[in-house]
Amino acid sequence: MALTGIQILKMLPKKNCGECGIPTCLAFAMKVAAGQTEIGECPYVSDEVKEQIGEASAPPIRTIKLGGGDKIYTTGGETCLFRHEKRFENPTGIAVLVTTDMGDAEVDGRIDRFKSLRYERVGVLLKADLFAVRDTKGDEAAFTALTRKVLAGAEDAGIILMSDNPGNLKAAAGACAERKPLLYGATAGNADAFAELSKELGCPIGIRGSNLDEAISISEKLIAAGIKDMVIDTGARTMKAALEDNVVARRSAIRAKFKPLGFPVITFPCEISEDPLMEAMVASVLIAKYAGIVVLSDLQGDILFPLLLERLNIFTDPQRPMVVQEDIYAVNGPGEHAPVLITCNFSLTYFIVSGEIEGSKVPSWLLIKDTEGLSVLTAWAAGKFGADLIAQFIKKSGIEEKVKHRELIIPGYLASLKGELEEELPAWTITIGPREAGHLPAFLKEWKPAA
Ligand code: SF4
Repeated sequence: MALTGIQILKMLPKKNCGECGIPTCLAFAMKVAAGQTEIGECPYVSDEVKEQIGEASAPPIRTIKLGGGDKIYTTGGETCLFRHEKRFENPTGIAVLVTTDMGDAEVDGRIDRFKSLRYERVGVLLKADLFAVRDTKGDEAAFTALTRKVLAGAEDAGIILMSDNPGNLKAAAGACAERKPLLYGATAGNADAFAELSKELGCPIGIRGSNLDEAISISEKLIAAGIKDMVIDTGARTMKAALEDNVVARRSAIRAKFKPLGFPVITFPCEISEDPLMEAMVASVLIAKYAGIVVLSDLQGDILFPLLLERLNIFTDPQRPMVVQEDIYAVNGPGEHAPVLITCNFSLTYFIVSGEIEGSKVPSWLLIKDTEGLSVLTAWAAGKFGADLIAQFIKKSGIEEKVKHRELIIPGYLASLKGELEEELPAWTITIGPREAGHLPAFLKEWKPAA
């Protein structure tokens, strides 16, 4: 059962030294209770207390890590049912399936697409995360060879090894070295062998139930055997059943603290539909509702990109705006006669505006003013992007040392600030830029410093 902040405080050394990065033990205890920091951040608590508090304050959906070194994939760690209650922690892993009965060209194509289908948006790299390697022929040598091929070809992929045969899993996992894979396929019949293997290799287990009840009983069995790290497949192979199971599992773990379902869920859109578009739709539903991992039959840009965007939206923290740092950004190698533009520090605005400037090929200085992540008009309405604040920023930013001219291009939506800004910045000419970022290239190509 979760501990309260006061219960945690009683177990702390109460030095109020601040070495945990938080000024007082009380504030630290509150943050641990809220899951906002780890008990291990206090260097003075004993291992015994760490274990006691760590267990009690662990998230209801266990955090599972795959991989090794700097290539760790994390799933689970969720603490709420709805994103607006707090936030969702670890984005649903997108995996692509390869099997031992695929030809080399099919496998190579999936590896190539895994490496090439990567997109940068608002400063975040969007890509698939994992390979699910399936032993369809029960052939240890072929399974290990396929695993080696994927490991070599997709160096930053998390690995899911799928086989009914613990011996084959052991051989393939042996090829993974430090890239700790998920060992998938523990059933009611082979759970004991999987538990032994998991303990020996230090790898998490993927449960394969034929339905939710069976998945629960396998989970209970593995928990009793001392296994802590698991991922659950409830066996659902229709969208309706998978959605229902995901919701039941998440609710049971969060609301009822039901331990056997307190693990991330792995789902298989690749086995729910053979139609790529329907498979994508199933994956999108399951990303929205609680899948820890979705396994796709292949990666195609037109399907992967919307799923990645959906995931990005769902797993951003709704209580924290996405921001970029207040600064002067040089775009296209500007010199002392380059135009100077200003906008807010809402990430999306920054990346759209800087992208348009970059596309224009016009060397420019882009000033980003801290508006606490609010967009231009919202920031202006909230009093965070007024003429006085812009003027203060211009003076302290250092832009006056970088350019010879004194002309500032402001967003078209702030046209009403022109007069006030000219009063605040008498040495500067204020030019009203376009309202839409898409019109910036044409505007900049025509731009000449005011005489
Ligand atoms: Fe208290 Fe430990 Fe933080 Fe020091 S480091 S303030 S003792 S919780």
